[in-house]
Amino acid sequence: MTAAAWQSYNQGMIYLDNGATTPLSEQARSAMKPYLEDLYGNAMAVYRLGAQSRQAVEEARGKIAAVLGTKPEEVYFTSGGTESDNWAVEIAAAEAGGGHILLSAVEHPAVYNKCMAMKARGFTVELLPVDQEGQVSPEAAAAAIRPDTILLSVMTANNEVGTIQPISAIAAVAARENEKRRQAGTAQRLLLHTDAVQAVGHIPCTAASLGIDMLSASAHKFGGPKGAGFLYIRKGVPVHPLLIGGAQERSMRGGTHNVPGIVGMGAALAEAAAQMDAHMAREKALRDRLIDGLRAAVPGCRINGSLQDRLPGCCHVTMPGVPAESALFRLDRAGICASAGSACEAGAVRPSRTLLAMGQSEEEARCSLRLTLSYRNTEDEIEETVRTLAEIAASIRALQQEGK
Ligand SMILES: *Cc1c(COP(=O)(O)O)cnc(C)c1O
Repeated sequence: MTAAAWQSYNQGMIYLDNGATTPLSEQARSAMKPYLEDLYGNAMAVYRLGAQSRQAVEEARGKIAAVLGTKPEEVYFTSGGTESDNWAVEIAAAEAGGGHILLSAVEHPAVYNKCMAMKARGFTVELLPVDQEGQVSPEAAAAAIRPDTILLSVMTANNEVGTIQPISAIAAVAARENEKRRQAGTAQRLLLHTDAVQAVGHIPCTAASLGIDMLSASAHKFGGPKGAGFLYIRKGVPVHPLLIGGAQERSMRGGTHNVPGIVGMGAALAEAAAQMDAHMAREKALRDRLIDGLRAAVPGCRINGSLQDRLPGCCHVTMPGVPAESALFRLDRAGICASAGSACEAGAVRPSRTLLAMGQSEEEARCSLRLTLSYRNTEDEIEETVRTLAEIAASIRALQQEGK
C-alpha cells in the first residue's frame, strides 16, 4: 500500500496502536473474500463445498507450521490469543491435577488472570520477577522451579514495553529440569508455554527449535482478522480439550472452523514472514526516529523496556508530570491513536502491573504511553507525533504548574 493510499484507508489518522490490533493486510483480505462469499462450506462436511473449506484450512495450517518450523499437526486453531493462553494453562493443569505454576510478573491478562484463577482450584501460583527493563532472568527461573512445578509460562515479547524475553535460555532451563526428572524417574514433566502473540509475524520466532511445549499466537496482531488464533502444542504433550464438542482439530477443539479467519491468518502470517526483514528494518528506523525525537523534544522523558531486546515497532515512554489519560485524550483530538499500557487494560484505573513489576512508581506508571508502529507508518507521521506530543506535554505541565 502506498503512503497516500494508507492515509485515506486510515481516515487521515496516525495509527500508533499496532500492539492493540493491526489492520487487515491486503493479502489476508483477498484470501478471505471467497470464504466470506461463495465458499461457505463447513470444513467437516463430506461434499465438495466442505472439502474446499477443509483444504483451505489445512493449507493455512501448513503455512503457519512452515513459518514456525513445526509439524502441521502441532498447530491447533483457536478463537485467538486469549483462548490459546487459557488452553495452554488447562493442558498443564489437566495433566497434573495440582501443583506449582510459575509465570513472569509481566504476562498478559490472558495468562496472568487465568493462572491466578487456578489458585481457587488448589494450584500454587508464583510470579517470576523481572528487572527494570522487564526481563526475566533464566537463573531466577531455574531457582524458582520446584519438583512439583507443572507449568512455566514466559511471554516471548511483552505487549506493553516490547521487551523480548530470553526464551531460548529459559527453554534450556526447562530442558535441564525435565532431564533431571527423567533421570529421577519422575513422570511429571515441566511444560514450557510462551505467549508469542506480540512476536509471531514480527520477529523471527520458531517454536520447535527452541524446545517450547506450547506457543500462543493471534491473527489480528499480525495483519490477520480478529477472532482467529492458534496454539502450537509440541507432539508428545498430552492434549486435553478446552472446548469440548465436535471432532474438529483432532477432537481437541470443538466448534465449527472459522474458515475465513483461519484462511486470513495463514495468508497474513505467510506475508508477514516473507516481508519480515524489510518490515523489521523499517519499523526499527521509524521507532528510533520517534525515540530520538521524543528524547529531544520532551524534557525529562524516559524510554521504558530494553533498548536492545525489544520489538522493532514498540516505543514506550514515561513523561513525568504528564498523565497518560490526559495525553491520550489530546492525542485523539489531534488524530493520533496510541494507548496507555495495553488495550486490554484500557479503562482500568489501576496503573500497569507490568510497569510496577519493572520498578516504576504508581505515579510514573500513570504517566506512561505506548506507541506501537508498523511498517506502514511514514516519517512524516513520526515527525508530527513528536511535535504534537511535545506540545501536549508542555501544555499539561504548564497547567499543572498553574494549579500548584
Ligand atoms: C493481544 C494479546 C493477547 C490476546 O489475544 P486476543 O486474540 O486479542 O485474545 C494475548 N497476549 C498478548 C501478549 C497480546 O498482546
